[in-house]
Amino acid sequence: MTTYRLTFLREKLKDIDTLIITNPQNRRFLTGFTGSAGVCFLSKDHAYLATDFRYYTQVEQECQDFELIQAGYDFIGTLPKVLEKMNAKRVGFETDHLTVSEFESYKEAAPHVEWVPTKNLVEDLREVKSVAEIETLRHAIKVTDYAFSRGLQALKPGITEKALQWALKQALFDIDGREPSFDIIVAAGLAGAKPHARPSDAPIPRGVPIVIDMGALVDGYHGDMTRTIVMGEPDDTYRKIYDIVLRAQKAAIDGIRPGPNGRDIDALARDLITDAGYGDNFGHGLGHGVGLHIHEMPRFSTRATDAPLQKNMVITVEPGIYLPDWGGIRIEDVVVVTENGCEILTETPKDITSQIMPV
Ligand code: ZN
Ligand code: ZN
Repeated sequence: MTTYRLTFLREKLKDIDTLIITNPQNRRFLTGFTGSAGVCFLSKDHAYLATDFRYYTQVEQECQDFELIQAGYDFIGTLPKVLEKMNAKRVGFETDHLTVSEFESYKEAAPHVEWVPTKNLVEDLREVKSVAEIETLRHAIKVTDYAFSRGLQALKPGITEKALQWALKQALFDIDGREPSFDIIVAAGLAGAKPHARPSDAPIPRGVPIVIDMGALVDGYHGDMTRTIVMGEPDDTYRKIYDIVLRAQKAAIDGIRPGPNGRDIDALARDLITDAGYGDNFGHGLGHGVGLHIHEMPRFSTRATDAPLQKNMVITVEPGIYLPDWGGIRIEDVVVVTENGCEILTETPKDITSQIMPV
């Protein structure tokens, strides 16, 4: 299942002969192994997965392309033997996924090899999704849509942010025992001005914006969606800001296709928000890749790289406007880049009328 991924990765091992993979999502992407601990070793001729006693059988079952190294709990003790077996000389490690102390102990255990820092070797491969990955993400997003509408049935005057969060989580669990892909955000009124607010015990007032950001986890892949609803009649600010954020999101989605880079797409939404007078109130990037990790490459942001968008990248589009003395509005969908544009995977309605919940 993962053979072609190894072929691509091996082609990228130019100035190193061996790569050590310590990031959990990268490990799963390359090996298919769903356990929580293990380190991969890859060279032109070898592919090993070292793990502890808990996972020996699981590795045999899940990883056809990797040979199991029974490392027990003394991984560092095993390291020199594995590197020797691989005839490793220049060994790459993932700079973003190894602590300083782990790296020090690697160097101490194998001082004879040259340690070479690497960055994004596997992450780059994860940016463009396979057909199977897109189907899994589609599934995760469908579950998200469904759980969102089911969970909202709990919305009634007097409900607290935490109770609504729990209802949404319960709705996920009711669909094949699914779990949230991250802590569900329910942020009403002023709390919504903080993009990543924690739900509180405060009852949600009528008429204020309620930012709900949630996703389902399906086979390791992350759904991600935000809607900003309101219980009862909203004020004029809601109507005005909602309209700007929705137009900004549509402007960005209309521009997504293979070719432009992440800054180009970010600007489509940001310029519209800035022209409307709220540029300073949109303080985060427009979107992020989703997959085995909730936030991965590529990015839609002012600091995105020159790399052009490619077909089958799966990315969120989530502009927001946050007003410290009022609240926030964010709208987030997941899209997949197609041959000539993009397909919106999220199906939850986002026209303003659907956000206004009668009470
Ligand atoms: Zn989100
Ligand atoms: Zn997101």
